[in-house]
Amino acid sequence: MITVPDIIIAVDGWSSTGKSTFAKLVAKHFAFLYLDSGAMYRGVTLLALEKGIAGPSGIDEPALKAALDAGFDLHFERPEDGSTQLFSGDRNIEKEIRTMEVSSLVSPVSAVPFVRSWVDERLHAFSINGRVIMDGRDIGTTVFPAAELKIFMTASDEVRARRRFDELQAKGTPATMEEVMANLKERDYIDSHRETSPLRRADDAFELDNSDMNLHEELVWIQGLMQGKFGILG
Ligand code: C5P
Repeated sequence: MITVPDIIIAVDGWSSTGKSTFAKLVAKHFAFLYLDSGAMYRGVTLLALEKGIAGPSGIDEPALKAALDAGFDLHFERPEDGSTQLFSGDRNIEKEIRTMEVSSLVSPVSAVPFVRSWVDERLHAFSINGRVIMDGRDIGTTVFPAAELKIFMTASDEVRARRRFDELQAKGTPATMEEVMANLKERDYIDSHRETSPLRRADDAFELDNSDMNLHEELVWIQGLMQGKFGILG
């Protein structure tokens, strides 16, 4: 039986606009299941890197296809603290998928059409009955085009690079501001120019520019939408 969530909130937008922070906040506040589609693309990229089938010199597409068909066991687990962690088998890879090495390869890997369909299939399978909020680049346009609520997030380049840089510093992941800025711009370009499911704002998406907003203000913004669209108070 195919299970279809009652309410899907699709959160798309440019790199490092705070989509996952926002989506996690909404999930917690309104008791939705949170799914991070970017983590799946990062997971595929990490495993491809480790197997030597993707790297700075390119992607061995036939080998990647064979590896995906043979089975990459990527799945989410939810520990007691309510977070969502990506696992490869029984290995927690949540930290490894956020390195600059993975960030610099993830956009070319996720531009490969068979990688997109492999990930899409899993995203649908993870979206159980109930209420789901998923963030990514093509959730409102391709993965769940009939999502009940679509949000498209933007922020200035400077704000995005600073946030990402601070996040990496806090995790002890080495990177310079220049590298972070270059990576954001490169990913935005590849994500919005690829042939399959390019990043674009869905016509019916509400835009959230959070350049000058704090998390509390973002929450107040979504509270208005949740009440107006679904009559959900929170
Ligand atoms: O969201 P995050 O920045 O972790 O995503 C990493 C990369 O995965 C993006 O830059 C994009 O190339 C890819 N991605 C995608 N489609 C999605 C989510 C992520 O192509 N739905």
